[in-house]
This record gives sequence, structure tokens and C-alpha cells, in this order.
Amino acid sequence: MTSSRAQRGISNYDGRGRDASPSARLSMTLVVFLLAACTSTKPRPIAIVGATLVDGSGSPGVPNTTVIVRGDRIESVGGAVPADAQVIDAKGLTLAPGFIDMHNHSGAGFKTDPAAETQVAQGITTLVLGQDGESELPIGEYLKSLDKSPVAVNVATFVGQATLREHVMGEKNLDRPATDDEVRAMAVLADQAMRDGAFGLSTGLEYEEGKKSSTEEVIALARAVAPYGGIYMSHVRDEGQKTFQSFEEALRIGREGGVPVEISHIKMGSVSVWGRAPEAVRLIEGARAAGQDVTADCYPYDAWHATIRVMVPSGRYDDPHDVGEAIAENGGAQNVTVVKCDAHPDYEFKTLQQIADEKHTTPVDMYMSIVRDGGANVVVRSMTEKDVKVFYQQPWVMVGSDGGITARHPRGAGTYPRVLGRYVRELHWLTLEEAVRKMTSAPAARLRLRDRGLVRAGMKADLVLFDAERVIDKSTFQDPKRLPEGISQVFVNGVTVWPVSGARPGVAIRRP
Ligand SMILES: [Zn+2]
Repeated sequence: MTSSRAQRGISNYDGRGRDASPSARLSMTLVVFLLAACTSTKPRPIAIVGATLVDGSGSPGVPNTTVIVRGDRIESVGGAVPADAQVIDAKGLTLAPGFIDMHNHSGAGFKTDPAAETQVAQGITTLVLGQDGESELPIGEYLKSLDKSPVAVNVATFVGQATLREHVMGEKNLDRPATDDEVRAMAVLADQAMRDGAFGLSTGLEYEEGKKSSTEEVIALARAVAPYGGIYMSHVRDEGQKTFQSFEEALRIGREGGVPVEISHIKMGSVSVWGRAPEAVRLIEGARAAGQDVTADCYPYDAWHATIRVMVPSGRYDDPHDVGEAIAENGGAQNVTVVKCDAHPDYEFKTLQQIADEKHTTPVDMYMSIVRDGGANVVVRSMTEKDVKVFYQQPWVMVGSDGGITARHPRGAGTYPRVLGRYVRELHWLTLEEAVRKMTSAPAARLRLRDRGLVRAGMKADLVLFDAERVIDKSTFQDPKRLPEGISQVFVNGVTVWPVSGARPGVAIRRP
């Protein structure tokens, strides 16, 4: 997508003509340089005029508000337009804080797309990486590399428990609980990660790298991040039949580790737990009523995306009985779509049922042969919208995409517009103000970011302008990277990143 998406005559703050000749560009650069030199103490302000302000707090939108941005900060809300301001006419649009994605996998994608097009096109301005137990390490070096070569969005990170295991125990040696010595060594690394700026510890106990971890081993690492105010971010051990035991385990890790808990991408992910979201809510509200700090994030889809191995909780990927049960538990082979398969690219975007039919075999045999050939990534439609709705209506559930630049699931390009268009405008599950709060001040408060997540004077100028009547996701299971519609302009630290401008104003955010 190009800047042709710019709507309503909104201009690029960055001001660089895409089609300017090299000499024109050079003279423009000189002018910009001279202007910057003369006005370096007071950059030219931007006045966003006429939008309905939904400020992220959850309070009702205020029509026809003027917001002044100067440099990377919001200078005023509701004040007069300075004479030298660049004016953006935002009549008919909604202005909100930039969206903070609590669960994002864009890390690797920055290498090919530092503009993070599918992310900024949704209004995302801050990504939280290091999820599901996998992170960069050392965290300090990673954040410094982002300081040196920034991307379009702000980046924060957790430290991954599986990454710590790989580092200490060796990649080929993860099929057992860690020894006491290994746990101590991991705790030292976790402590260093927190001092480097990580926001807490993430796990992906459903994945092979984390599966054999004992609860006690995770508690020990939670204790290591606790003194820094770290959060325990949990992709729980089982998102199918054993969902409830897995939630209990996450709560126990929080209690005994002395850390707040966030359940990642909360879901009722298989047939035997369908319709039980209200029970999950009762379980978590019980913990909250007893004084435990627990939240969750949730993506707006009835399908998950992970490795094909995750489907079989027993880990016996070559046992026809366990594999058959796993396929049934996910509602059948027609619900399982292979989206990435290095050994058989021709399987991609076909269901397990289709592939089995083509090969004249059964889905169970097909599953086992895919795993034998190196595995695959799958999108599995094994959730119900009824459960998603229950979660979205809880004030302690925020939005997280679980997507990212390279995602082969529509959530990677559609999450935020889908919540605003489908859940708010079409289905009336929640108000626009509440949805925006779940995308902005709720995650900011969770991360204790004091200068993002609200449109207030003095806050960082991460902002989204969108058309609440039009905003909608366009990405599909067959075409997962299709960009959404209705997001007009996105600023990160006062600089336009959508429509894609080439600017990279994002910062590495360290735990405050
Ligand atoms: Zn996950």
C-alpha cells in the first residue's frame, strides 16, 4: 500500500514529496536542515483540528477538539492553534492515543520491514515483544541495537523463559525440568534482563521448549523479576482440555512468585472447553477479589496460529490415537489450515482435510507425516465467537494481536480495525471509548508507562486518526496481509508513520 491511502487531504508531517527530483529533494533537505537549525529549541507545531477526541481513559469522546503536537510531545489539548502551526483538518475523524499491542511477534519482521506497514496501518504505535517464552538475549544489547537503528514503532520487550532455558541448558537438552543449578543460572540472566529494561518474564509452556518446565522452575524465575516490578506474561501450558488447570498454574506462579499475571491471548481453544468463558472469568475474578493482580489480552478471532505440534498436548506426535483425539478436540481436520510448511510449500493455505484427500490418506496419517517432515505452522479455527465476546466485555481484558509483520494469520494486519469496526460498530459488544481504552491506557497502565496511552498535554505524541464509521479489517485467512481501511494517519513520537512515510521515529522503551 502507498500514500494513496491518505484521505481527506491530510498531509504528511514529514513533508517529503515522494516524487521530487533528486535536486529538489536536496534543496528541500537543505531547507529542512536550516529550519531545524533555526528552530531546534521549538519545532514547528502540528495542530490536529476538528476531530472527536477519544482520549484513551474510557470517558466519552469530545467532539471538535484541537490537539497541538510539538516535537515528540502533545503540547496542549483544547488550546488555541499557534500561528506557525501546520494544520491537519480532522473533521469527521476520531483522534485516539496510538495503540499499544501487548502481544506482538514483529521482531524478525523489522529486518525486512522497518516501516512495519501492517502494524502502523492498524494504528499500532508500540509493540510488546518477547512473548510466549521466546525473546532476544541479552535484552540490553537488543534495546541498544534499536536505539542505533530505530524502526517506525516503539518497542518494549519481555524476557523469554524458553530462551533462558536454551541459553543455560542447551537447545537440544530441554526435554526435562531444569536442575537447581540451572534455575539459579537462569535467574541471574533474568535479573540482568530486568536491569536492562525488560518488563517481565514470558512463558510458552505449551511449546516444546517450555513444556517440560516444572511449575517451581517458573516460580523461581518469577521471583527473580519480582523486585523490579516485573510482570509474568503467560501463554499457559494447555489452551485446550486442560485450560482451567493451566490458568490455575499461572495464578499460582503469580502468587508464589510475587508478580502480577497477564494471561496471553486468553481463549477457550478446543471443543471440550467451548462455552466456558464465563467460568474462566469467575476464576480470574475470584483471584482479583482475593487481591491478586491479574489481567489478560485477547485477539479478536476464533482461530489460533501456532506450530502443528502444539495440537497434541501429550507430545506423542506419532501416536495415531493421540493425534486422532487432538484433531477431534479441535473440531476436525477441516478446521486446521497449514499456513507454512518448509518441506511442502504446496500444502500452504490448504486444510489438513484437503491435503489428506489429495493424498488419498487420513488426516491422522497426514498429520504424522507433516510432523515427520519437519512440521508446519497451522491456523486452527477451534474457538467460538461467543467466548471471545465474554472476554472482550471484561474490563481487565485488553487487546493484543499475537500478530506481527510476518504473521500468516489475519490478526497480523487486522486486529485493531476489526475490534473497532466489527465488535464496536457492527456488533455493539463494547463502546468505542472502552475499546480504545483496552488498546491504550489499559496496556500503558499494565506496563506502568506514564507518558503514553492517553491524549493529555505532556504525553508522548503517539496518535491515531481514524474514521469510526468506516474502520474495518480486510485481512482474511487466505489473504492475511491485506491492509485495513479507515485508519487515516498515525503518529509515533510526533512523526507520521502511516501513511508510510519512511520515517523511523520509534524508540526502545525500557521498564520505567
Ligand atoms: Zn502465544
